[in-house]
Amino acid sequence: MRLLVTGGAGFIGSNFVRYILENYPDYEVINLDALTYAGDISNLEGVMDHPSHRFVQGRIEDGELVYELVRQVDVVVNFAAESHVDRSIVQPQVFVQTNVVGTQVLLNAALESGVKLFCQISTDEVYGALSLDSTETFTEESPLRPNSPYSASKTAADLLARAYFTTYRLPVVISRCSNNYGPRQHPEKFIPTVILNALHDRPVPIYGDGLYVRDWIHVVDHCRAIDTIMHRGNPGEIYNVGADNEWANIELARKILSILRKPEDLLTSVKDRPGHDRRYAISSTKLRRELGWEPLTPFDQGLAATIDYYIHRARARDEG
Ligand code: NAD
Repeated sequence: MRLLVTGGAGFIGSNFVRYILENYPDYEVINLDALTYAGDISNLEGVMDHPSHRFVQGRIEDGELVYELVRQVDVVVNFAAESHVDRSIVQPQVFVQTNVVGTQVLLNAALESGVKLFCQISTDEVYGALSLDSTETFTEESPLRPNSPYSASKTAADLLARAYFTTYRLPVVISRCSNNYGPRQHPEKFIPTVILNALHDRPVPIYGDGLYVRDWIHVVDHCRAIDTIMHRGNPGEIYNVGADNEWANIELARKILSILRKPEDLLTSVKDRPGHDRRYAISSTKLRRELGWEPLTPFDQGLAATIDYYIHRARARDEG
């Protein structure tokens, strides 16, 4: 099988490229990434020159390039996105450009060249927020109520993908995953920020009261879910991906500090993000029951390995 993976120099995309090359020796991967501030070629260390991997630097909004690449593959997996909520509040137009326009360009190229499958990597943030006292979890049928320019642009992309299935019968599957953690995440994101600041004895910023609850899944479990959906999912279907592993930010930061044996007084409350979603929680029962997927990484183990990864990375950078 030949895949076009977009955003494959970012956090999840680079883990997915590695996962595919390790698990499917006969697959070929074209990796299209613009290398924005969030993309890092060093995320591909060790696989960059793999004979089944070809890296192309370019943007998903570039119709000519995208068409040229899409016609060489069977499956498109679209990770490429602007992904940081805080940045979307300052520069929403960049998010619309990449996440909405870029996805539409890819969908069109996929339709024109008749790919076998288009996997849209969406997010649980399309559902909006739950209150702290609610016991509800979002299912694939829940209404879409995105609150940030990031999640609104991802919702538009998700709905465009759905519309290409309904209108043109392009075989599309959509995954909506909860918060990922693991190696190669950009240092601006929550878990790397906590680890790296604590390691350097710098204040660890916590938004507002810290009672923002997220469901954390290891990135490799997300990659396995995409693998499952890509091979066994039904076109036109949406699959939630989650680990039932909810943590309030402040509790998770405390846990990381305790693993690193750092004092809790590093925690520093900072001005809250406007429109900050209180709680995300999704049900991945459909994916578990229909396709037999389940997350396999125990949180303590995955978190410890992630902390080790950032310790080694920080040491290598200090030395180099
Ligand atoms: P990331 O920011 O680490 O990586 C995004 C990658 O896309 C980068 O390598 C960047 O260079 C590339 N890119 C940005 N604009 C591009 C463009 N116009 N053309 C081509 N490449 C471009 O993001 P991530 O955390 O790895 O997320 C990947 C995908 O998964 C996103 O679509 C995101 O919405 C989705 N997602 C992320 C999470 C999470 O917790 N990180 C959870 C659910 C869904």
